[in-house]
Amino acid sequence: MPELPEVETVRRGLAPVMEGRVIAAAHINREGLRWPFPPDLAARLSGVRVLALRRRSKYLLADLTSGETLLIHLGMSGRLSVEGATLGAFHHDLPAIGKHDHVVLMMEGGARITFNDARRFGAMDLMATDAVEAHPLLAHLGPEPLGNAFNGAMLAARLSGRNTPIKAALLDQRVVAGLGNIYVCEVLFRAGLHPATRAGALSAAQAEGLVPLIRMVLDEAIAAGGSSLRDYRQASGELGYFQHAFRVYGREGSPCVTPGCGALVGRIVQSGRSSFYCLACQPAATTP
Ligand SMILES: [Zn+2]
Repeated sequence: MPELPEVETVRRGLAPVMEGRVIAAAHINREGLRWPFPPDLAARLSGVRVLALRRRSKYLLADLTSGETLLIHLGMSGRLSVEGATLGAFHHDLPAIGKHDHVVLMMEGGARITFNDARRFGAMDLMATDAVEAHPLLAHLGPEPLGNAFNGAMLAARLSGRNTPIKAALLDQRVVAGLGNIYVCEVLFRAGLHPATRAGALSAAQAEGLVPLIRMVLDEAIAAGGSSLRDYRQASGELGYFQHAFRVYGREGSPCVTPGCGALVGRIVQSGRSSFYCLACQPAATTP
């Protein structure tokens, strides 16, 4: 499932062919994905210019000159690709539209943007630009982890008094938006915190110390995506999926990467999801 860095990588790949460009034509090949598409979606997208392509949490937001904003969510398996555009030195011919190519945007200038989603957990919606923050998918989101408003004092206040494990607290989108299972595991490893540590048991310094680690982990993943983005452009035009070098995620039974540690990476299941952690660097809390 794409997490925040993958969505940001997609945004950066799409921005050059969308921002400032007119959507010459929109082709909608089904009634909806996870939810029905808004009425007249194709007509409301066709002939309007994209002012900016933003990201909020794992949602892409294209602000349009019509006063509306297009929301795109990749869901579990959604993929966006760009073809027919001159991207750097590479040119993509236009292959035939595929079975799962649900939405196709033909951009002024010749780029074709395709939203492909085999499992159809993705979503698209249109709303007034000035109502974006009130959209049901966005209204309850906490601060952006890479945004200026997110800081140590804010996170410490949001974790204070919480009886949930720190893993669950950081996955709570009301605490901080856009963090998923993979990157929370990576953040807790760097913080030396066992994933079952009670959130409210963290000192203010520990809670504040999570903020730069969250930013570092996300920034590194976005940088890795940026480098693979160039590879994907060469290969297929597909944006945003890459193998990142994880330190604990998916490494159960492998040695810890901390020099001199020697312990193995363990795994526990919390709320149905795997938490990977070093058995030595992230000791279980001794006080409940
Ligand atoms: Zn270790």
